[in-house]
Amino acid sequence: MQDFDLVKMLSDTATAAEHEAKRAMEVCNACRYCEGFCAVFPAMTLHRHFTSGDLNHLANLCHSCQGCYYACQYAPPHEFGINVPKAMSELRLESYQEHAWPQPIAALYRRNAVVISSLTAVSIAGIFLLTAFFNGASLFAKHESIPGGGFYNVIPYQVMVTVASATFLYALLALTMSLVGFSRAIGLGFKTLCRPMPILRALRDAATLRYLGGGGDGCNDAGEAFSTTRRKFHHALAYGFGLCFAATSTGTIYDHVFGWKAPYGLFSLPVILGTVGGIAMVVGAIGLLWLKLSGDQAPRSETQLGPDVALLLLLLGIAATGLVLLAVRSTEVMGIALAVHLGTVLAFFLAMPYSKFIHGLFRLAALVRYHADRDASEAFVSRPTKTKR
Ligand code: SF4
Ligand code: SF4
Repeated sequence: MQDFDLVKMLSDTATAAEHEAKRAMEVCNACRYCEGFCAVFPAMTLHRHFTSGDLNHLANLCHSCQGCYYACQYAPPHEFGINVPKAMSELRLESYQEHAWPQPIAALYRRNAVVISSLTAVSIAGIFLLTAFFNGASLFAKHESIPGGGFYNVIPYQVMVTVASATFLYALLALTMSLVGFSRAIGLGFKTLCRPMPILRALRDAATLRYLGGGGDGCNDAGEAFSTTRRKFHHALAYGFGLCFAATSTGTIYDHVFGWKAPYGLFSLPVILGTVGGIAMVVGAIGLLWLKLSGDQAPRSETQLGPDVALLLLLLGIAATGLVLLAVRSTEVMGIALAVHLGTVLAFFLAMPYSKFIHGLFRLAALVRYHADRDASEAFVSRPTKTKR
């Protein structure tokens, strides 16, 4: 638990986003009207003063449902101008940037995430196509030696596995380094991570997208009206991604354990999982893009829009190129479609540590600290007081 009785101040190097979040939290801490809205407000009440770590913790608990903006009597045009979703969103983006690893690559993505991701996808696809060319593969021929056409006839298995493994391991390392840095910054220590209950509760909240339900009425997706649309699109995208991952894992088991080579039949498990997951991802990504670009922009941060759109476009690209590959895998363009799909998938892995994807991990860490703080606070309140005899 944080020592919330001690006086804590923001450092001299605090950013404008930290100062604005601190100002909003101090007003909210006096008001407390939104206490039941989400995890931010109950976590806020455990502090009388806010350090940079506390504010970053609160910012990553917020998921921009916008409910507190439309409920707030101090929101613009009130002279206090309290806009919690916008303040938290800007601070969240700073926390992603501060803890991104390594910083020079993060800076590159920061400048133009969409262009860098597109160039990466095209470059990786180009590498695969050149490899196929120099390997003597006929890119525009039907690969009929294996029913449906053989992927490894175009891009050799060793090349595919080496490039994919290197990319995946790099992404895993960069994500871990970022998560460790962020966890330290918000005071999530080793001791807390050894306690199962806060972790289990945080996983439950994350898996069910609990706070996107807005207590049953939904979020303020596009304005003052409540809606569960964002939650549904978020579920479609997240579970669609999970199904596609399951499809790839199943394919790997088929290949390595049973020796069954890809591509697989239309009614095989990897294809069914991949098709359902791909369609869900397309629906979720288009829906979230539409919600982002429409509706009231007042409670949103303009600086967060670019990284959000870049990630959604990459996810849409993965799903769309995967479905196209499935549709054309018995035709002459299978080789090109395969290279483009693999390029998009690997570009996504490389962009993961510098994109909004990191929000999933930071939010999970923030939820673990939230549940640990609450447990500690309840234990503190219910502790029997010693009386002198
Ligand atoms: S957002 Fe506004 S209404 Fe809600 S707790 Fe803060 S000051 Fe009060
Ligand atoms: S925008 Fe939603 S999640 Fe964020 S602080 Fe307000 S009510 Fe909580």
